[in-house]
Amino acid sequence: MKQTMKQRLYRSALKGLIRSARRKHFTFGLCYHRFEEALGQDPIPGMAHPVEMFRWQLETLQEFGRFVSIGEALQPQHKGIRFMLSFDDGYADNYTIALPILEELEIPACFYLTTDFVRGKLKQLPHDLAVGCTPKALSPAQVKKLASHPLATIGCHSATHKRLDDFWRKVWDEELVASDKWLEEAIGEEVLDFAVPYGGPEDLVWHSARRYLVETGYRSVASNFGGKNGTRIDDVYQLGGKSISHIHRVPMPVTMDRTTLLGWTLGLANPLERFLPKRYLD
Ligand SMILES: [Zn+2]
Repeated sequence: MKQTMKQRLYRSALKGLIRSARRKHFTFGLCYHRFEEALGQDPIPGMAHPVEMFRWQLETLQEFGRFVSIGEALQPQHKGIRFMLSFDDGYADNYTIALPILEELEIPACFYLTTDFVRGKLKQLPHDLAVGCTPKALSPAQVKKLASHPLATIGCHSATHKRLDDFWRKVWDEELVASDKWLEEAIGEEVLDFAVPYGGPEDLVWHSARRYLVETGYRSVASNFGGKNGTRIDDVYQLGGKSISHIHRVPMPVTMDRTTLLGWTLGLANPLERFLPKRYLD
């Protein structure tokens, strides 16, 4: 009985949230990593989605809003809910599994690549090494094909996926600047978007990093908390004539329950949003 009451309250709060999001025109940033053949097979909870779950989540969210590219997400919007889809780390299945589904559903996405991983210098990312799993990286040929695909934007996700929670010029030069330069040379175009490794509020010295990132030439920096962005992505840092926008993203839940998916994606069930002091979420 108690549970039913709670569920009813949750559903009505969710309806209110959707109504308010539609009125206020939010853009929600979504973050995926990789795929698994069967539910729960991946050793890291929340890292992988079964293919059918991924497709179902996108189709469900398409009922509520429009998926836009990162370039469009950074433009002010005038109407409705928008979603900005992204993938972190640079796993091969982003190309082999996700891309055909995105083509089918006509959904654009930003792929944030860990450069030493996709160039073969690093066989495993630190979080995969810790649990002894060896998912494949995108090959250089796949990176090029992705880069020239009309639905894909390539972003940078550091060189080695180190935590950037302390300022060391040498490390940041490698992780934020050299990685960007390598990626631009590899794909033959500018790389303007960066996603913070791990992406929590504690995983970056935000104020120093924004300055550093803007000087490197990035236009946006994506985190992995909050998920909700205002009418325009208005958390902008300006320096000289340049600026950088902070895109909040939500790590996508592993669920095929409609209420949980919407609640989580739209912010109602995001534990960070509920428990972190407001200042961390701005
Ligand atoms: Zn990552």
